[in-house]
Amino acid sequence: MDIQERFETRFFVAGSWRSGPRTFAVKSPIDGRVLAEIADCGAAEARAAADAAVEAFAKWRHTTAYERAATMRRWHDLMMRESEAIARTITLEMGKPINEARGEVRYAAGFVEWYAEEVKRLYGQTIPSQFPNKRLLALPQPVGPVYGVTPWNFPAAMVTRKAAPALAAGCTFIHKPAEQSPLTALLLGRLWEEAGGPAGTLQVLPALDPVPVSEVLMGDERIRKITFTGSTEVGRLLYRRAADTLKRVSLELGGHAPFIIFDDADVEQAVAAAMGAKFRNGGQTCVSANRFYVFPRVRKDFTEAYTEAARKLKVGDPLNDETQVGPLVDRQALDKVTAHVKDALARGARLVTGGSSEGLVYQPTVLLGVDEQSRMLREETFGPVAPIVPCESDAEAVRLANATPYGLAAYFWTRDLTRAFTVAEQLEYGIIGVNDGVPSTPQAPFGGVKNSGIGREGGHWGIEEYLETKYVSFALP
Ligand code: NAD
Repeated sequence: MDIQERFETRFFVAGSWRSGPRTFAVKSPIDGRVLAEIADCGAAEARAAADAAVEAFAKWRHTTAYERAATMRRWHDLMMRESEAIARTITLEMGKPINEARGEVRYAAGFVEWYAEEVKRLYGQTIPSQFPNKRLLALPQPVGPVYGVTPWNFPAAMVTRKAAPALAAGCTFIHKPAEQSPLTALLLGRLWEEAGGPAGTLQVLPALDPVPVSEVLMGDERIRKITFTGSTEVGRLLYRRAADTLKRVSLELGGHAPFIIFDDADVEQAVAAAMGAKFRNGGQTCVSANRFYVFPRVRKDFTEAYTEAARKLKVGDPLNDETQVGPLVDRQALDKVTAHVKDALARGARLVTGGSSEGLVYQPTVLLGVDEQSRMLREETFGPVAPIVPCESDAEAVRLANATPYGLAAYFWTRDLTRAFTVAEQLEYGIIGVNDGVPSTPQAPFGGVKNSGIGREGGHWGIEEYLETKYVSFALP
């Protein structure tokens, strides 16, 4: 593939591209081939990045909103210009079907565009005083240099969902991408440079071992915020570490989304949405539907139509335009999916389709009669596996849906308005899709409750995470 020579293999610090003392191989889940040997950053590179982020912040924070908006607008336009290269890089390094990768690029660029516009509306407030000679102001200020850590499942969107509001707010951003998908991140860094982003405003530090880079940046009190997307386990660790230097914290963690089909649902629409909510990205998204609760009247129709649709999915080479389910990201992911299916079967579940794998590709799988104690009903499977569970009443649906330590996304299908409002209010989740399987969009708040995290990304909520309020009291003579 001639795209190979376009991969950036150096790291990006203080506005310059540097080769590291060490390198590591980025392998494609498609065929295991090495895509690139790239710089492996450690403590020394992290210290250089921290110094540059602090230096750049001193100037970037004082640029006008209009200057930052213009740079971001150029970044957006360059992402659109290079959208095919970005999409192919995403697919090559983490295996997402190319058409989905194209969708991810549009979604990722959408955050940049939205924050390029929003930065012009970062209003402060004036506060009435009880003293005639006082003028009280509340001013939004950038938090400071930010450290961002992202996962592999959305190599572009997880970057811009953080970096765009941070840079718009006037913060500088040090990015450590996931070790599986650093090539997309480096490409976005190149485009930021081409857009005229000043040295040190956005820096990209790929690393095979995240710990040395993280230790430096988490321990540096000049870095004022950590923003992380990934597993709950690592999120907890970073939250603890952030206490030492009292950093602001945003955590987007795991999920375990319920998908409820009430007996008044439009089954055809519910099936179509349930396909996307489950099989998009091979089930490797934090908002993937993990369990389907189906009411008696629609159970047979839903199960038959859903199984049929799952059987028809085109599985295989993600670079093929037609493919709908590609390989899982790595062996560990495949082992987890296999173990979850085995566990459910051992507890009496019935396999109606799928249940096997070839290479890293796991066949779209539907299971019935899955026991409540099964691992897949409690832990994130992160794979193309749909357990269908019978459900008899609204109270039971809400109880089962909420019986998890996670609280990111939940979906349900109904045509009853009262039920729609009541259930939406009762579900303990940050994101609710009512007759909607894809609620995420740049202008809306994205994030979870309970073990799914802290803070919100997207919309004005997303930029507030990168702002402090400075209070200024003027006493007139
Ligand atoms: P992960 O937590 O293992 O890795 C995520 C990132 O953290 C990677 O960049 C990794 O290098 C880094 N990391 C790992 N250990 C670290 C440490 N000790 N110190 C500092 N950094 C460390 O997660 P993963 O398995 O790669 O990603 C999948 C997880 O991400 C799933 O749980 C998924 O639900 C979650 N996710 C959440 C959202 C969301 O918005 N809530 C979005 C996408 C993915």
